[in-house]
Amino acid sequence: MPAAITRVKGKIPIENSYTSGLAGEKTLKAIKEHGEFIGTSCPTCNWTYFPARMFCERCFSRILENDKSVGPEGTLEAVSLVNIDQSGKKTKPYYVGLIKLDKADTKLLHHIKGAKGLVPRPGARVRPVFNSPDKRRGSITDILAFELV
Ligand SMILES: [Zn+2]
Repeated sequence: MPAAITRVKGKIPIENSYTSGLAGEKTLKAIKEHGEFIGTSCPTCNWTYFPARMFCERCFSRILENDKSVGPEGTLEAVSLVNIDQSGKKTKPYYVGLIKLDKADTKLLHHIKGAKGLVPRPGARVRPVFNSPDKRRGSITDILAFELV
């Protein structure tokens, strides 16, 4: 009796495309056109989100209309040195970190640019490094990285 076939190994390449939504568009447009960070703030619980949100995730109030300028500087809350890429292969080391922008209550995950002789550590002050205005596409990658202040 032949063995049952329970698994077939293989790879399925999947490509995704997401819409930015009304709130995401607001944030990405401000970065692209002005190099500014626009979030939204909840009038009910006073929580400020960056990137912007349509609704408060804490109290479900509609907040899309309550723009709030945040950053551009912030504080590095956590940092990791990445040595292995998503496929498990060794890569040139780089830092990623969670940044709490000034006047925001949420955190943003992004690349951290180390300075010569300085290792990024939690608590460090950081500022954004934007792509040049003519090369911005309306993407979070219009921010090339955050660098130590
Ligand atoms: Zn709220």
